[in-house]
Amino acid sequence: MTVSKIAALRAELEPAHRQRQHIGLVPTMGYLHSGHRSLIEQAVSETELVVTTIFVNPLQFAATEDLSAYPRDLEGDTEAARSSGSHLLFVPSVEEMYPEPPSTTVALRGPLAETLEGASRPSHLPGVATVVAKLFSIVGACRAYFGEKDWQQLALVRRLVGDLSMPVHVVGCPTVREPDGLALSSRNAYLSPEERAAAPVVQRALRAGAAAIVGGERSAQAVNKVMADVISAEPLAELDYVAAVDAATLEVPEPLAGDIRLLAAARFGRARLIDNVGVRAE
Ligand code: AMP
Repeated sequence: MTVSKIAALRAELEPAHRQRQHIGLVPTMGYLHSGHRSLIEQAVSETELVVTTIFVNPLQFAATEDLSAYPRDLEGDTEAARSSGSHLLFVPSVEEMYPEPPSTTVALRGPLAETLEGASRPSHLPGVATVVAKLFSIVGACRAYFGEKDWQQLALVRRLVGDLSMPVHVVGCPTVREPDGLALSSRNAYLSPEERAAAPVVQRALRAGAAAIVGGERSAQAVNKVMADVISAEPLAELDYVAAVDAATLEVPEPLAGDIRLLAAARFGRARLIDNVGVRAE
């Protein structure tokens, strides 16, 4: 069942809240692929009522970014969500979510918000935090499923929930990849055949960085150079950033120690792709 109004979604969820059922929430921007489906399937296996949301949130796009070009396919998404087991699809309009420009938004600070995506796309993460807070407020107590593919977003949403004491349990789900290692992304639709063939270099760079750490390298700078060299060797890739950081705080431990996350962002023509892998530095 698809609903487009906030009040209608609340009315659908009310009996489940009353009966103390677990509600699963899967926020997306649509154009659903197997990565999104894996989130929905995990939610279905762990909760009684799953709501998938599709909303291309203007607050998280800068004026220069791809808001109007962002791929959309409501018919395909409806079928993908249904066949993955989602019970409810929430597809609000921009007017429904933001009847007027909001006076209240979620402000972020610290390395979790200001580095990496926060540095490259300053309005992005506050826009994400604001719409996620709004969805949590609409849905109420729930388990919310987010992909590890957007690692910084996942880490930030965990902090958002803790900092504001929201009644939400955040569940991180593994990244789903193409056979050649490319992380599935709606933005892969922008890639030309040549760019598509080149794009797995991001994952190869991250794996090279992880191998360096497993091999004993403990300097973040040295690991970053390993990763940057792999991406820079690909003529169709324009490197944005690579980073070896603490998986939870996104700070740079020197020497590298504990749970490390390696993250990268690069442009291939119109597509800006991000990816990350985890590695333990004992
Ligand atoms: P998006 O529609 O890109 O905003 O993504 C919606 C949710 O799906 C986010 O929690 C993403 O992290 C997650 N997601 C996107 N791509 C993947 C993937 N390849 N594997 C797992 N989760 C993903």
